[in-house]
Amino acid sequence: MSKNVFVIAEQRDGELQKVSTELIGKARELADDLGQEVYAILLGENVKAKADVLIHHGADKVIVVDHPLLKEYVTEPYAKSIYTIVERYDPEIVLFGATSIGRDLAPRLAARIHTGLTADCTGLAIDEETRLLRMTRPAFGGNLMATIVCQNFRPQMATVRPGVMTPMENDNDRKGEVIMEDVGLTDADMNVKIIEVAKEEKKKLDITEARVLVSGGRGLGGPEGFDLLAELAEAMEGEISSSRASVDAGWIEKARQVGQTGKTVRPDIYFALGISGAIQHLAGMEESGLIIAINKSDSAPIFDVADLGIVGDLNKVLPKLIEQYKKAKA
Ligand code: FAD
Repeated sequence: MSKNVFVIAEQRDGELQKVSTELIGKARELADDLGQEVYAILLGENVKAKADVLIHHGADKVIVVDHPLLKEYVTEPYAKSIYTIVERYDPEIVLFGATSIGRDLAPRLAARIHTGLTADCTGLAIDEETRLLRMTRPAFGGNLMATIVCQNFRPQMATVRPGVMTPMENDNDRKGEVIMEDVGLTDADMNVKIIEVAKEEKKKLDITEARVLVSGGRGLGGPEGFDLLAELAEAMEGEISSSRASVDAGWIEKARQVGQTGKTVRPDIYFALGISGAIQHLAGMEESGLIIAINKSDSAPIFDVADLGIVGDLNKVLPKLIEQYKKAKA
């Protein structure tokens, strides 16, 4: 009988990606509701040492496949490894990050295993009555939320956007089991030859990793408004992000958009400056630690989710705020 909640733990260059601990946090909740265990699958070369991190964040067992062919991500050896583990362990649920790797692997595995996949989920829960996994994701261009179940096939599989789920607190005393598995990889499984791995010079901007985000909306009045935001971001050691209106106006790049059709973020501090707080924007940031909003309209919906709100013209308020932060830092 299918049992246990599995998470595909993602690593790059031997470093665990944040989405792995986020998924384990959610898997822990689901497994506890089902009275089952959380397994993480960790693939790579010389990655065993990272298994403890997964256990400290909530995994009961970590299955490690350590092999030179898994050093760099290549679809086929990774797919074969996970497929073999799924065949051996018969999980009830398998979760992937909706990253470029997860988006490549999950549909291939779903087809090979012959089960369903719900991509890009923003919510996961166990149905109290049926004990099926309820997988929720935006549908019809984000105009409604669809909850999908996979009734007849196992495992139930989902990809989850990074930044959506909350990791558990790290607990160094947490104990678990590390299981080494051999999946019989051979050179015949490597259908591409890696000649060279070239890293991008500049680290790609990833607003989901920032502790402080200074986000600007249409209320900035133009692209030059972001110069002021950049000053605040620098003073706060944060990054700039934005609403969709600023992206659509061509004031800022799409990679910085927060919201339903942008990124889901959960920084410690989120500044919403000249942002009205449309539902599609809130969907991407309302779980932030502390939300500080400046808006000239006291009825802007952003104030419903803000912890601190300032009603005023940001062109007047922001320079004062920046001055104070700079003073406090000096
Ligand atoms: P506005 O709604 O125009 O708000 C501007 C705010 O600035 C107002 O509240 C105003 O009072 C204030 N303001 C103006 N001047 C000043 C000033 N001088 N000082 C202080 N305050 C001032 N939106 C997203 O952000 N992210 C998404 O991912 C996203 N996805 C979407 C998906 C779908 C399917 C749809 C239909 C919409 C989506 N939207 C998204 C768009 C969303 O509905 C809003 O249109 C958008 O968030 C509005 O951006 P805004 O708050 O910057 O602009």
